[in-house]
Amino acid sequence: MEILLVPNEVLRLKAKKLTKITKADINVAHQMMDIMIKAPGVGLAANQVGILKQIVTINFEDKENDKKANYILFNPSIIEYSAEKTIMEEGCLSLPEQYADVERPKQIIIEYTDENEKLIKKEIDGYEARILQHEIDHLSGKLFVDYLSSLKRNILIKKVKKLQNTKKR
Ligand SMILES: [Zn+2]
Repeated sequence: MEILLVPNEVLRLKAKKLTKITKADINVAHQMMDIMIKAPGVGLAANQVGILKQIVTINFEDKENDKKANYILFNPSIIEYSAEKTIMEEGCLSLPEQYADVERPKQIIIEYTDENEKLIKKEIDGYEARILQHEIDHLSGKLFVDYLSSLKRNILIKKVKKLQNTKKR
């Protein structure tokens, strides 16, 4: 398992909904969790490792608000967004070393299936809501740079390509 970088086309494809969560899917999620923590990253979507299934892993610590979480989401979807929005700086394991401010709703209500095939619905706020919106976007082939102007987006993507070329040499 390897993290794909822009402009890899797989990052632009839609991940499929799982009709049943198999042991193999749970195994994929655990591998994703490992690779994400090693990276290190706070979230990873299956598209980013070349698997077009709706699987997301999250691992973060928000010391300021004394919150931490580590969990797997199957078929996550956002069913409600708050009208209130916030701007936060985002980065992405598929665009190493690139960061930009992105505006998104502050709170969301999400629905997903957990490892025990239990349907979970919860309201999420702050940093965790930010990570989840970013990861759930990946499942539909969307990247955080899509919220920027095309000029800025192209600059960041070019920088990733350049970075890869210098690493290869
Ligand atoms: Zn990302």
